[in-house]
Amino acid sequence: MFNKVLIANRGEIAIRVMRACRELDVQSVAVYSDADKYSLFAKFADEAYSIGESSPSKSYLNIDKIIEVAEKSGADAIHPGYGFLAENSRLGKECEKHGIKLIGPSGSVIESMGDKITSKKLMRSAGIPVIPGTDKGISDIDEAVEIAESIGYPVIVKASAGGGGIGMRTVYEKDELVRAIESTQSVAASAFGNSTVFIEKYLEEPRHIEFQIMADEYGNTIHVADRECSIQRRHQKLIEEAPSPIMTEDLRERMGSAAVKAAESINYANAGTVEFLYSNGDFYFLEMNTRIQVEHPITEIVTGIDLVQEQLKIASGKELSCSQKDISVTGHAIECRINAENPLKDFSPNSGKITGYRSPGGHGVRVDSGVYMNYSIPTFYDSMISKLIVWDRTRTAAIDRMKRALSEYVILGVKTTIPFHKAMMRSADFRAGKLNTHFVDEHHKGITEEMEKVVIEDKERWNRLKSTFLPQKKVAAITTAVGSYMNNVQIQQKEK
Ligand code: ADP
Repeated sequence: MFNKVLIANRGEIAIRVMRACRELDVQSVAVYSDADKYSLFAKFADEAYSIGESSPSKSYLNIDKIIEVAEKSGADAIHPGYGFLAENSRLGKECEKHGIKLIGPSGSVIESMGDKITSKKLMRSAGIPVIPGTDKGISDIDEAVEIAESIGYPVIVKASAGGGGIGMRTVYEKDELVRAIESTQSVAASAFGNSTVFIEKYLEEPRHIEFQIMADEYGNTIHVADRECSIQRRHQKLIEEAPSPIMTEDLRERMGSAAVKAAESINYANAGTVEFLYSNGDFYFLEMNTRIQVEHPITEIVTGIDLVQEQLKIASGKELSCSQKDISVTGHAIECRINAENPLKDFSPNSGKITGYRSPGGHGVRVDSGVYMNYSIPTFYDSMISKLIVWDRTRTAAIDRMKRALSEYVILGVKTTIPFHKAMMRSADFRAGKLNTHFVDEHHKGITEEMEKVVIEDKERWNRLKSTFLPQKKVAAITTAVGSYMNNVQIQQKEK
């Protein structure tokens, strides 16, 4: 096992990785930007180093600086978390040059899976069903029109290097196609530095179902069951659950085997996720993410496997600690992403100081968070501030537990997605498991009305709770008193 791991990330995932390190008796090293000087994760690590200015390009994406800190601190491995450098093949190459182990797959795997056209081609040749569409970039508009006609409208124009739901346009008729291609190309060029776009069939009411994969360096590959992530806004996930409400033993066997085959076909080693769209009884490969996912805790809870510990063990050259027959799913887990966003204003990002904070607890509740009372949320990074995860024996009981946990979650000072999640837990269609990726748009009116009610209820309840938070003035007075006491102690010690 490693002695020391540098975590090239921030927020809740940095803390999550540090927890796994601590349990394995591995030292952890945090790197933080100027904006994260007072972040919880920087305090949580065994060692912490400043790596530069707040903008990601000057800190969390600065590979040379991160390698320099890894060498200086004596870290023998780097965990990239998700986002930032997690799917950057250069990080792997630089690590190799400097004799540092990257807790992730090889650079060539990252490159081929990070490109949607290449990954679809590879999967098709491995016999995995893929969504009908082109397997090369669009170079000519006449050709694009021909392809779209042969697939049949609606189609979706996607950036090959795309991610995070960015760079996708749905096209319902020929007249919209040229404009959609041009606009997707320009978004792709500015967001990903690569303007290649392609066309595939737009599935109208699909469910997003994905499989967790674990594979070691000795060719052992297993799936750690499924998650459903159909509750999305702007093609980004908001609520995830495990297992999918429609999962049967037969479907899990078929989809799970396809996911394992996908990973085996590229000699994958690490934790990963094979994402599928499921529609009318058929499933299609969507993409493979070659890293730990945001929503990994729900899988951990229903299977009992610590996925981050497994990642560390695999990267340090150990074999998988379990085989496929050891994997079984118990009960139901749900994760709500708590983002600093205003769900009543089209999920617009929100930042500011958390003036009151109380996180939920009790049986079957897990909170993976990177924030605390009086913490100021920086504007430079993504808006997720914590993840609320619950477990219970059945899906209905898990929804009720989530309702209870959400009612305990108090975050004052910034707008969050809590009202959205509360509204969702009350939705009859959500409770019935009638999900598809358009759920949030299709239920917009009902969810908004429910959120408006929630906001009024919360305001009344939180006003009552306010007195239980220490007023700001008192906090300042206590800090000053403790400071002067410590000073006195030091003076007395010196005098002695
Ligand atoms: P990204 O890599 O940007 O996250 P994905 O290809 O993983 O993009 O897709 C994200 C989401 O976009 C999916 O979960 C789904 O909601 C929607 N989507 C993508 N492709 C299609 C498609 N062909 N038909 C319908 N929805 C799609």
